[in-house]
Amino acid sequence: MKPPPFDYLRPHTLDEAVRALQAAAGEAKIIAGGQSLIPMLNFRLLNPGILIDINRIAGLDYVRPRADGGLDIGALTRHHTLETSDDVRQRFPVLHAAMQHVAHLAIRNRGTIGGSITHADPAAELPLMMVLLDAQIRAVSPRGARTLEAQDFFVGALTSAVDEDEIVTEISLPPLPQGAGWAFEEVARRSGDFALAAVGVVLHVDAGKIAEARLGVMGVGDTPLRMFEAETILFGQACDEAVIDDAVASVRTAVEPATDLHASADYRRHLVGVLARRALRDAWRRATGDQHAGN
Ligand SMILES: Cc1cc2nc3c(=O)[nH]c(=O)nc-3n(C[C@H](O)[C@H](O)[C@H](O)COP(=O)(O)OP(=O)(O)OC[C@H]3O[C@@H](n4cnc5c(N)ncnc54)[C@H](O)[C@@H]3O)c2cc1C
Repeated sequence: MKPPPFDYLRPHTLDEAVRALQAAAGEAKIIAGGQSLIPMLNFRLLNPGILIDINRIAGLDYVRPRADGGLDIGALTRHHTLETSDDVRQRFPVLHAAMQHVAHLAIRNRGTIGGSITHADPAAELPLMMVLLDAQIRAVSPRGARTLEAQDFFVGALTSAVDEDEIVTEISLPPLPQGAGWAFEEVARRSGDFALAAVGVVLHVDAGKIAEARLGVMGVGDTPLRMFEAETILFGQACDEAVIDDAVASVRTAVEPATDLHASADYRRHLVGVLARRALRDAWRRATGDQHAGN
C-alpha cells in the first residue's frame, strides 16, 4: 500500500524542527527511522499534512558514557548502534541482551531509540528497558525543554507522553549498582517478531540478600510495567525457589493481558510467570556466582 500525500521538510537544526512543528499546529509528524511511521502511513492509520525528517540534525546520534557510570543516548541513535556498543554491553548488559530481540538487522539499521519509545508499542523491547532502567527522557518544544521519568512516559498502547509539538532529544540511564545481576527473557513466535511477552530483571545482592530488585514485563498490558509488589517480595531475601514462587505468583496476579490473534490472555499470563522465573534465577546467578541456584 502507498501512503497518503504529505509535504516533507528536512531541517538541519533542532530549532528549525521545533519551529516547523509549531507552525504545523498538530498536522506534522516527526520521522526518524521510519520503521513504524511508514507502515502506519501505508495502512492509512495516520494522515499527517507534513513529515519533519530529523535525520539531518547533527548531534542527536551518540552513546555517551557518564562519569557516574550511566549513559546518555541521543534520540537518533540506531538500534544497531545500541546492539553493538561496548559501553552499552559493559554498563547495561541487560539492554545489550534485549537489543538482540529487536526486529531484523535491516530494521535495526534504521530504527532509532527516540522513535521506538515515542511509538510506545506495548511489545517493544526499548520501552521495557526504559522502565526497568529508570531512564530519564528529555524533550524540547516551543515551551522549552523538559525531562520525563520513564514511569510517566508510557501512557497507553502506542501512546507516549510526548506532546505533538515535542521532539525527544536524549535518553539518560542512571548507573546500575556495581556487580548487579541481570537477565532478559522473551518469547516471540519467530526470531525478529514482536514479543508475546518478555521480562527484564536487575538484582543487586549485598551479603547474600537482595538489596535492590527490579522486575519489568511487557506484552501483558498496554504499557511496559514494573512489578513493584514482586520487587517488594524479593527485597531483603535470598532468591531461593520459595521466594521465586511468591514473586512469580505476584507477577501473574498483577498483569492484565489481552487475548489477541497471537495468544490468549491466559497463555500470556502463564508465559510471563515462566519468563520471570527464568530471569530471576539467571539474575541471581549472575549477582552471586551461585551456579547451583534454581534449576
Ligand atoms: C517488520 C518489523 C518488525 C519489528 N519488530 C520489532 C521488534 O521486535 N521490537 C521492537 O521494539 N520494534 C520492532 N519494530 C519497530 C522498530 O523497532 C522501529 O524502528 C521503532 O519502533 C520506531 O523507530 P523509528 O526510528 O523507525 O521511528 P519512526 O517510525 O520514524 O517514528 C515512530 C513514531 O515516533 C515519532 N518519533 C520518532 N522520533 C521521534 C523523536 N525524536 N521525537 C518525537 N517523536 C519521534 C514519530 O513521529 C512516529 O510517531 C519492527 C518494525 C518492523 C517494520
